Amino acid sequence: MSISFSKVQKQRLRELDAPLDFQEKSFCSVQDRDEAFRNIEQLLVRQAKQHLLEIRNIHHRPKLCELESKLTNVLIENGFFQVITPIILAKGLLAKMSITPERPLFKQVFWVSDDKCLRPMLAPNLYYLLGEFTRLYEKPIRAFEVGPCFRKDSKGGHHLNEFTMLNLVELGSPEEGGKQRLEELTAIVMDAAEIKGYDLVTAYSEVYGETIDVVAGLEVGSGVIGPNALDTQWGWVDPWVGIGFGLERLVMVSKGYQNIQRVGRALVYFDGVRLNI
Ligand code: ATP
Ligand code: MG
Repeated sequence: MSISFSKVQKQRLRELDAPLDFQEKSFCSVQDRDEAFRNIEQLLVRQAKQHLLEIRNIHHRPKLCELESKLTNVLIENGFFQVITPIILAKGLLAKMSITPERPLFKQVFWVSDDKCLRPMLAPNLYYLLGEFTRLYEKPIRAFEVGPCFRKDSKGGHHLNEFTMLNLVELGSPEEGGKQRLEELTAIVMDAAEIKGYDLVTAYSEVYGETIDVVAGLEVGSGVIGPNALDTQWGWVDPWVGIGFGLERLVMVSKGYQNIQRVGRALVYFDGVRLNI
């Protein structure tokens, strides 16, 4: 007879981030299984408490905030300037991104009033600003924003309703070298995030058409090489490259976590440690 962990036990093992192969284990009897569960739970709780004690007395920041600071610094060193734009977004700007009621992404939007929502992405505001900058600055123009985005995403280990996006864009990149530039910019971010193994994979997005996803076991970012069909209505037509990264996913991959909830804004976790221990 092969007995696996019960639903409740599996849930607890996920919360405590037990090794995946352990979670999949099967046993000959319920007694063996429950004993194994008790042992690992005790061990993981002990380790978690130890971690909480260790971080109490050092100058500690959440990993997500540390990564945000690191990426901000590294992008500035690489000639980008930072922008911060409103989190509340007008419906009209979404429509300009072709996110209209018939698009699946539209159904994931959190509305705060009839014509205002919590931004599901940073791109509309960046598109808008680039329209202004293109009149004011010489090219290339390199800008980035990092901040909260919101989507009603199906629950699971890789999605949060509120997450942190980094979106960088370089307008006026060399027309021919877009792919290479995308690779270089990706490398800057992935180095800072301390992730060595990743691939660039061509994919399709309902908003942009072709995208180039940054995949490190799971998708951590999506890049676009412009010009793009969307551009002209924002007042510019130059070649560009842009990439949106999910910061929680970057932390998740670099730390080897199985679930993204450990990294995001939370009341039940602190520094990746489940607090009901
Ligand atoms: P997925 O297909 O994994 O849902 P996506 O392609 O819809 O992601 P993009 O619009 O490409 O996501 O957003 C850029 C990046 O933002 C993603 O590569 C991912 O790292 C991150 N991201 C998107 N949605 C979420 C979410 N709900 N929770 C956490 N991170 C997210
Ligand atoms: Mg994507």
